[in-house]
Amino acid sequence: ERRNPGQTEFHQAVREFAESVMPYVLENPKYEKAQILERMTEPDRVIIFRVTWEDDEGNVRVNRAWRVQFNNSIGPYKGGLRFHPEVTLDTLKFLGFEQTFKNSLTGLPMGGAKGGANFNPKGKSDREVMRFCQSLMTELNRHIGEDTDVPAGDIGVGSREISFLFGQYKRLQNRFVGALTGKGIAFGGSLIRTEATGYGCVYFCENMLNHVGDSVQGKTCVVSGSGNVATYAVEKATQLGAKAVAMSDSSGFIHDPDGIDAEKLAFIQELKQVKRGRISEYVVQFPHATYHSGERPWTIPCDLAFPCATQNELNLSEANVLMRNGVKAVSEGANMPTELDAVHAFLQAKVMFAPAKAANAGGVAVSGLEQSQNSLRMAWSREEVDKRLQGIMHDIHSKCVQHGVENGFVNYVKGANLAGFIKVADAMCAYGIV
Ligand code: NDP
Repeated sequence: ERRNPGQTEFHQAVREFAESVMPYVLENPKYEKAQILERMTEPDRVIIFRVTWEDDEGNVRVNRAWRVQFNNSIGPYKGGLRFHPEVTLDTLKFLGFEQTFKNSLTGLPMGGAKGGANFNPKGKSDREVMRFCQSLMTELNRHIGEDTDVPAGDIGVGSREISFLFGQYKRLQNRFVGALTGKGIAFGGSLIRTEATGYGCVYFCENMLNHVGDSVQGKTCVVSGSGNVATYAVEKATQLGAKAVAMSDSSGFIHDPDGIDAEKLAFIQELKQVKRGRISEYVVQFPHATYHSGERPWTIPCDLAFPCATQNELNLSEANVLMRNGVKAVSEGANMPTELDAVHAFLQAKVMFAPAKAANAGGVAVSGLEQSQNSLRMAWSREEVDKRLQGIMHDIHSKCVQHGVENGFVNYVKGANLAGFIKVADAMCAYGIV
């Protein structure tokens, strides 16, 4: 804490990781001798830069942007860009740190990074977003590349933003290479990338339930958020025979006891992604549903909870409510959505709990597959990519079980942290003191 004062989210992420990994490090002196945890918690480098752009009224606007290149021991840096007014270096360090071990878990050769800007895309015109993205890339392009660092989307950065960013990268570099992922299908994107994080999160949950002889089918689900991850988590859960009864945004949540079927989900997608509206408008279209302003959805009884919005959106008292209502499994679609004491409570009560590092790794995994397709100059079919995604989520589940079993109960937090750690740590040790 003395080294990184005030970086509470970064501390939280490191603490959760260290709780799992410390005992293992102490049992294996080679890691302790190499000061491996001290080295892992210091990013390779952080780039901070100004982004100046002009709004539609001709005013000059200034934002701050970062790229945290955390660790490239097992592959080129890889991780999303987040545009949100509350983005800070603290947030991006926690995300970059987590990304390193998540990417390791996928089994693909990817290092960890994260970036973004304190830019608020809400209420901005397409042209303003374009000018912002072009200005940001004018600096960022010199720090990234297909073998160096490959950014993707995250909160506030979807296909519109990736397209503007890639267009500018290509123009500045005069090279058409896979330096960004999440691209449009017409220009090097991969099928299933958009769906991958939400789908993967549900696949992981299905693996956890299968492991104890159960399945997603017939379960009631509550999903927070209504962005990229949340939407496709609802789609896949519904396809597997579950019923999603609640979704949210940063203003409140909707409860639809009949279930958010494919048609209602299409309405939400259009509302959030095209019209950039609020989830509250759902009840205008579907009046039997209710809207709860300023609240989070965790009071709604469910079998499966999928926090898919943002960090620290599920606290201890909400975890207790979920458990009182009989929740069977929690699968994190967002990064670090569950506060640490709530994680402890789920584990103590032996609720199946899938941490983000494992449960939402499907997104970056398909980004890795997008890189492979770009390098091969090929495009795989939807079925091919989906099959690989399912295989990767299955493998991650197996690794978590291998490293996480404690008296018959799988502690997925420990399993994911240890499995992610060992690969990165062994690579760092092999490189010597660098
Ligand atoms: P989107 O921008 O598409 O959606 C974000 C959703 O979360 C929106 O519904 C938004 O509501 C809500 N939200 C954002 N900030 C807050 C907040 N402070 N409080 C409450 N709700 C909030 O982002 P994604 O779906 O891509 O990302 C969601 C989470 O998943 C993030 O934690 C991200 O890091 C993680 N993730 C995403 C991956 C991806 O492939 N996209 C990969 C792995 C992890 P509103 O509309 O009101 O802003």
